[in-house]
Amino acid sequence: MPVDFSIKDFFYPIALIKMRRFLEKSQWYSSDQLESYQINRLREILSLAYEHIPYYRQVFSDNGIHPDDITEIDQLKRLPVLTKDIVRREYRRLQSPFAEKLHAKAYCTSGSTGAPVSFLLDKPANILEFCYYWRHWSWAGYRLGARFGEFTCGFFIKHEHNKNDIAYFSRLTGRLQLNSLMLGEHTVLKIAERIRSYSIRFLNGLASTLYYFALLCKKARITDISFCAVFSQGEMLLPAYRSLIESTFHCKLYDSYGHMERTVAISECPDGGYHINSEYGILEVIRDESHSGENATGGIAVGTSLHNFSMPLIRYVINDRIELDASNSPCSCGRGLPLIKKLYGRNEDVIITPDGRFVTDIFTVFESFSGIELARIEQTDARRVLVSLACSNNWSNSTEYSLRRVLEKYLGAEMRVDIIYTDAQSLRGTCANKFKMVVSHLNVKSEGL
Ligand SMILES: [Zn+2]
Repeated sequence: MPVDFSIKDFFYPIALIKMRRFLEKSQWYSSDQLESYQINRLREILSLAYEHIPYYRQVFSDNGIHPDDITEIDQLKRLPVLTKDIVRREYRRLQSPFAEKLHAKAYCTSGSTGAPVSFLLDKPANILEFCYYWRHWSWAGYRLGARFGEFTCGFFIKHEHNKNDIAYFSRLTGRLQLNSLMLGEHTVLKIAERIRSYSIRFLNGLASTLYYFALLCKKARITDISFCAVFSQGEMLLPAYRSLIESTFHCKLYDSYGHMERTVAISECPDGGYHINSEYGILEVIRDESHSGENATGGIAVGTSLHNFSMPLIRYVINDRIELDASNSPCSCGRGLPLIKKLYGRNEDVIITPDGRFVTDIFTVFESFSGIELARIEQTDARRVLVSLACSNNWSNSTEYSLRRVLEKYLGAEMRVDIIYTDAQSLRGTCANKFKMVVSHLNVKSEGL
């Protein structure tokens, strides 16, 4: 999940500064102050939903509830959960009439369940997102304008003439975008050189991309790259990832958890605590009977956005598993934001291309094809991948052709791509919450590459 900021995000300086100042203060709030903030925002969202959004109007009516009945966060449970299937089915009826006025834009993500879903995000949601990252990065000493590197592929895929570039630097924002699709043994020296030449002080990326970059640096005996901090996101951070990244780049790694739909955000503090950003959204953890042996504080994450007024997601089932911190002990950093104990996010395999590149974000390809209900890509040998697709009726030969073209951009022409069609139930099998979109059958011995 790259940080999707553009120059347009700077068009609202007053709103940005106001939100930034608030978040600076609120991180030190007591639990009562945080809850009071949440309930005020929630009541605003609920009354918008009740008065103007057809889907929610019906939900309130079917359950005999009025927004005024919900006066505490815990009472949110009186409303039913919102699943991805419902969002797909009720997409139009979930939109607020103010979406256009709020500059809402449609996005699509597959999340960790592998099934793409579309939704709207608006200006208030973007302001919050910008300030949320700003605050988290500042915990590691970041100041706006500091030289920042990020592994991403979106920019390079979008701009055909840039697709084989190693990096793109924006002088205006001080941001170096590193092409994650070019990460490999043949390019690591060039990537390191760009980082040195632009004096990059912070690095952001998917946990696995950062890990393979560290591994490639180690193999190439690159020891002089160091950052003030590295930020990982978008995937489960394995302990082996953290230790290699921190030792290779001589700094602390700050992990975070979020999702494209932006109902919940969790970020790691300098003392290693994983804090729930209470001002961002409301996190609930609900029990899952299929995990009956799990600790009582663990379950499926359900989020409610507090800042998206174009399509508010209320009790949205995120499907990642989270274990709350039952001790309720404050973090040694002094922040009042509550803690979680453990999170279990996306954990995909890496695809290694015939030309020696490590492609860690291939799963994002499927998000741009609206006819895909579920997809999996498996690397069966060094030169072949098998793509299994469950598609809706609007899938066509020309869409398959477009998909092949995009996969070629990611994997190169030397990789054979076979596509088979199946249905979502067969593809998902029995692993409803642990579906892997990317599977490798190669025996990758990571430590030695
Ligand atoms: Zn802390």
